Amino acid sequence: MFKKYRLENLEKGNLIAFGEVFQGMLHPSSIEILTPLKDLGLKLNKKVVLVCLIDDVDSFKDLELLKKCIADEIWMVCHQELAHFRDDLYAEVLVEMVKATDPCGLFFPATSIGCSLAPRIAGRLNLGLCAHVNHLEIEDGKIVMTRPTYGENIIAKLISNTSPVMATLSIGAFSAIYGEKEPKFFEVEMPSDFSWVSKLKVRRFTPAAKQPNRLSTAKVVIAGGRGLRSKENFQKLFELAEVLRAEVGATRPVCYEGWVEEDRMIGISGVTVRPKVYIGLGISGALQHTVGMENSEYIVAVNIDKEAPLVKMAHLGLIGDAPKVLDLLIKRLKK
Ligand SMILES: Cc1cc2nc3c(=O)[nH]c(=O)nc-3n(C[C@H](O)[C@H](O)[C@H](O)COP(=O)(O)OP(=O)(O)OC[C@H]3O[C@@H](n4cnc5c(N)ncnc54)[C@H](O)[C@@H]3O)c2cc1C
Repeated sequence: MFKKYRLENLEKGNLIAFGEVFQGMLHPSSIEILTPLKDLGLKLNKKVVLVCLIDDVDSFKDLELLKKCIADEIWMVCHQELAHFRDDLYAEVLVEMVKATDPCGLFFPATSIGCSLAPRIAGRLNLGLCAHVNHLEIEDGKIVMTRPTYGENIIAKLISNTSPVMATLSIGAFSAIYGEKEPKFFEVEMPSDFSWVSKLKVRRFTPAAKQPNRLSTAKVVIAGGRGLRSKENFQKLFELAEVLRAEVGATRPVCYEGWVEEDRMIGISGVTVRPKVYIGLGISGALQHTVGMENSEYIVAVNIDKEAPLVKMAHLGLIGDAPKVLDLLIKRLKK
């Protein structure tokens, strides 16, 4: 279906992004990470290549989406052994690709798959790896990666000593953009002696009972913190979310308290959101939380303390008891 290219004949020196495909579908963060890479590519005069590992093109459901993405090229590695993600085999394919094509950068979305794969490849190739990067830029011709560090209390800028530069990029930290020009598609043929053997055998695949939440792409986010005081009060956020067609987010302490699942945590240890409206109830606004929501278009903070950092950074601060405000909002909006 696509033009076939042997691995050793592919163009060298590109910026490579890992396109995460699971059950035939592309993870949205694979499109998001192309946004900063395209910018780097223009500044460094490098092509951006999205690499997808799939079992076969016919079972891949997001081809149309790939046609609209801003990568210059899409490299598909197709093999039946790639039907299920297996760290060792996927890493081996990418290690071979790095060796053959000598990219200047190799980037992964910081999903669980990306976070499992990237360190394996870095280890195999003896490369530095910068995790959870939320900004990329060029300084003096070098790729500079920004991420919070030292207990997430300071923002660090890092330059890799090794090449290719490797990083995982935080989910939701970059907005997906689409292009007019369709990327070029290539099917990559691995060398004939490449071993497709994995130590892992997939015996059965059972999809998760619960659908993953859409926090990172939600237009409206209602987040709750310790100031909501109880799990019962926190649960009311879901009632409000239903009325507003919003997603519910949380701070780390309330996730750890068991008020809500950890996949709703916003911040450095969780998801980055950039909704049109973010409403934070009973949240102080610690840096570890705000790095995950500071790019929201309109921020509302409900707190009893007018000096709370989130109130100070909000476009609208409501000084009052969060559980009471929540009840009033639900009552009013349900009318
Ligand atoms: C390495 C590390 C990583 C971390 N990662 C994250 C992360 O990803 N995400 C995250 O959120 N946190 C993270 N944290 C924790 C972070 O530092 C803060 O402790 C946390 O964000 C605070 O949560 P909170 O705002 O719910 O609680 P608090 O800081 O306790 O704030 C509660 C707020 O509620 C207000 N309040 C109290 N009663 C009421 C009321 N009745 N009505 C209205 N307001 C009221 C208070 O005035 C206060 O401002 C991390 C910490 C570390 C060290």
